[in-house]
Amino acid sequence: MGTFDSVDVEHYCPKCNEKQADYQTKDLGRQMQHYKVGEPFILFGMKVQEGEFAIYDICLKCHKEVQGKAYVGDGKLRKVSEFSKVLEKVIVEYHQNQ
Ligand SMILES: [Zn+2]
Repeated sequence: MGTFDSVDVEHYCPKCNEKQADYQTKDLGRQMQHYKVGEPFILFGMKVQEGEFAIYDICLKCHKEVQGKAYVGDGKLRKVSEFSKVLEKVIVEYHQNQ
């Protein structure tokens, strides 16, 4: 549990195509910050020049999880990329005995 930060980049669920407003990350301050591409990247009050961190999102409609990375360069959040293939984690197999 706990909180996370958001990277505000609209994207579409690869499974059901539902529009999603942002990605989440637990790699930063977990202070419910919203980061935007093209804006100065401030972490704990300090400008970060270079770096990358993991992002993820879980579709609000079908619960498909996507993962990716966000990249910081020259003091700004530069881009996010979604991994094209994500390992599927089977949590519960509901239809096994049907
Ligand atoms: Zn979906």
